[in-house]
Amino acid sequence: TRTPLMAGNWKMNLDWKQGLALVEDLGDALKGLDTSAVEAVVLPPAVDLRTVQTAVDAGKLPIAYGAQDISEHESGAYTGEISGAMLTALGATYVAVGHSERRQYHGETEQVTNAKVKAAFAAGLTPILCVGEALDERKAGKQVEFSLAQVEGGLEGLDAEQVARTVIAYEPVWAIGTGEVATPDDAQEVCAAIREWVRTVHGDTAADAVRVLYGGSVKSSNVAELMQRPDVDGALVGGASLKADEFAKIVRFQD
Ligand code: 13P
Repeated sequence: TRTPLMAGNWKMNLDWKQGLALVEDLGDALKGLDTSAVEAVVLPPAVDLRTVQTAVDAGKLPIAYGAQDISEHESGAYTGEISGAMLTALGATYVAVGHSERRQYHGETEQVTNAKVKAAFAAGLTPILCVGEALDERKAGKQVEFSLAQVEGGLEGLDAEQVARTVIAYEPVWAIGTGEVATPDDAQEVCAAIREWVRTVHGDTAADAVRVLYGGSVKSSNVAELMQRPDVDGALVGGASLKADEFAKIVRFQD
């Protein structure tokens, strides 16, 4: 039994004051949340994390948080980068790795993505490994093949116990920020294939534990239907995570 996970990726939105307002409003909206039934996570810009930490601690808010990226290196002369240890020092527990925007605009290769997943584990963070095909691959019917290759590359060298703790987010690029959500069947197809890949390579325990999220134009109006599919364990939400009420509704999809 996997605990559903709803993660809000703020991307490059909200300065620390706006982020504080959002996390406080979200805390209000999620008051009394049963965190054994669903986990709520926010991924603010790195400069907001200290503020988010303070608000979550002070209010004992039922919200976990993490970063949108991590350096593959431990420390040293890497200007502009942020290490895993710096993130855990802020109480972060999650980090997104290999988001399509990092792959597309920052040239992150499969090898870099894999190194960042390993850096996350080395620091004690849970990586949210993002995979998913672009429209061309979807049109060619290659969505499963393409996504599995990214899963394989991202998880290379990990043991079954680490894979069990990884979160994998299937985010088809054509569905990100477009308002064009994948159908529940399309989401289920790739999420199920990812779990089957884990089963084949890492065994039943890892496959039954690994959480596979769907991302791409998720809203409160479409999340419940997606969550009905057996291999969709949660959502990675962009735009709809920037409004407290809307994201809270997504977190409370079971109500
Ligand atoms: P949207 O929910 O805005 O489509 O973004 C999805 C996403 O990329 C989350 O990481």
